[in-house]
Amino acid sequence: MLKGTNAIVTGSTSGIGLEIAHGLAKQGARVMLNGFGDAQQIETTRAEMSETYQVDVLYNGADMSKSDEIYAMVDQAVSAFGGVDILVNNAGIQHTAAIEEFPVEKWDAIIAINLSSNFHTIRGVIPGMKQRNWGRIINIASAHGLVASGTKAAYVAAKHGVVGLTKVVALETATTGITCNAICPGWVLTPLVQKQVDDRAARDKVSMDEAKALLLSEKQPSQEFVTPAQIAGLTVFLCSEDAAQIRGTAINIDGGWVAQ
Ligand code: NAD
Repeated sequence: MLKGTNAIVTGSTSGIGLEIAHGLAKQGARVMLNGFGDAQQIETTRAEMSETYQVDVLYNGADMSKSDEIYAMVDQAVSAFGGVDILVNNAGIQHTAAIEEFPVEKWDAIIAINLSSNFHTIRGVIPGMKQRNWGRIINIASAHGLVASGTKAAYVAAKHGVVGLTKVVALETATTGITCNAICPGWVLTPLVQKQVDDRAARDKVSMDEAKALLLSEKQPSQEFVTPAQIAGLTVFLCSEDAAQIRGTAINIDGGWVAQ
């Protein structure tokens, strides 16, 4: 379905982003991977993905907190692939603390990586998408882009910002073949959430399984984690022609979290 298209997926060395990269490559898109991790492991992932789906897969290690590295990544994708048709803004980090104890450097890092990076990548790819009159921009926000929880000041502010940015870009591109939407997942069991499970198990002196059940029961009525594959499936759908008039939405995929 996506044969001949070119994609960047930020934060795709782990978790949700990695599964989205697989999903797009499986549909025939060339993919630029991005994110941190062990260099050898990333190279193995890149080569296997390219071999499995018979598409070009590149890696750029740009730090999403650094605007110059972000623009250089977009430039590399444009020169290697000839353009960027699909942009998935997925890189993100978390830190939890009460606001009066929230480290200033953590606030700055979360706003830079979870929000400002989306501005820079979109700003970088939009001119080419406008030239070709086609594009799909998918921002991985969160249920925390729609509702709040305590101890997550920076994350909730950044994700609400992503939802707002999504709407602005959708309006600015409304009469073009470019769409911009946000996906708002609930709990997904990735390394980002495993840390919160670990913290919960230590704090409440319970087992990992009990900590997972406690996290889910607080927020997610389905009592089940959303899977990275389900988010990849939704991302691929948003890239399809059936989704061409889905614009400026924040689609929750959250086991019922924000229905409450
Ligand atoms: P993860 O920790 O498994 O993956 C995060 C990815 O971002 C990794 O590839 C990491 O290397 C990359 N990354 C981190 N800092 C970076 C930086 N400065 N520059 C470049 N890459 C960087 O986390 P995940 O759970 O897969 O999260 C992916 C996205 O989904 C995040 O935006 C997160 O906020 C969002 N999300 C996750 C959940 C969840 O429950 N896991 C729920 C809602 C939204």
